[in-house]
Amino acid sequence: MVGRPRSLIVRRRDIESDPRPQGGSFSSVRWVPFTVPDAVGGALGVFCVDTTDPVMGLTYDDGPHPDHTPRILDVLAAHDARATFFVLARQARSHPDLMRRIAREGHEVALHGDDHRSILTMSTHDAVAMIRACAREVEGLSGAPVTLYRPPYGAHTPRQALAIRRLGLEVVLWSGDGLDWLDDEEDAIAERALTSTFRGGILLMHDDRGDPETIAADEVAPAFDRGRVTELILTGLAARGLTATSVSALLANRVPVRSLAKDRAMQTRTGARP
Ligand SMILES: [Zn+2]
Repeated sequence: MVGRPRSLIVRRRDIESDPRPQGGSFSSVRWVPFTVPDAVGGALGVFCVDTTDPVMGLTYDDGPHPDHTPRILDVLAAHDARATFFVLARQARSHPDLMRRIAREGHEVALHGDDHRSILTMSTHDAVAMIRACAREVEGLSGAPVTLYRPPYGAHTPRQALAIRRLGLEVVLWSGDGLDWLDDEEDAIAERALTSTFRGGILLMHDDRGDPETIAADEVAPAFDRGRVTELILTGLAARGLTATSVSALLANRVPVRSLAKDRAMQTRTGARP
């Protein structure tokens, strides 16, 4: 991903507006009045791409999980759809068979960290060292190169993003969210996901919840069928004429849209928390 020449920088509200942006509209809402070199834009994560093509990026965080991930993979295969899995190295280590299956079935393996600790709690040096080691380990387990990194909670500093970029990893956030870290009806989750999806968008979903220890006493842990949610999302995307693909396939030969990090402070109850 390093080497794409230019990036668009926009305000967060231009990505998350209602109605959602249609393909190509980001050129008119760019925040910086020119496209910036990628080396400069690299301090900001990628939220989506600027395109009129009927394609979107489908992503799953916090896995692999021994029950949920195989179900999601079965549904993706049935729809001939591709996705990016932002895995936790601690999970990958426990399920090397799933890592190989994800890669074998044509999906992209990307990194979400070792455990789910926010890198805002680490020095840039320590965060980069952890990310470098985990990327190598995950590559060894899956047999596929890792070129993308998504920080837990979408939280990073510009300095961390630039340092991560020097490792050869692109920092990828998201533009749409199914809000699937708490329990809900499958139809409601899929509807939220579809409503937040547009051409060139990157949708955040989960094949597990990476920080179950933070579920509050008044919250219900996810118990819904993640395979069913994937089925509903893929059916809904097809009805809208959209194809699901991996983030690297989405980024290829397209202009990335960048913005400020999701949240500078780690959130534990509400807001962005992949
Ligand atoms: Zn996460």
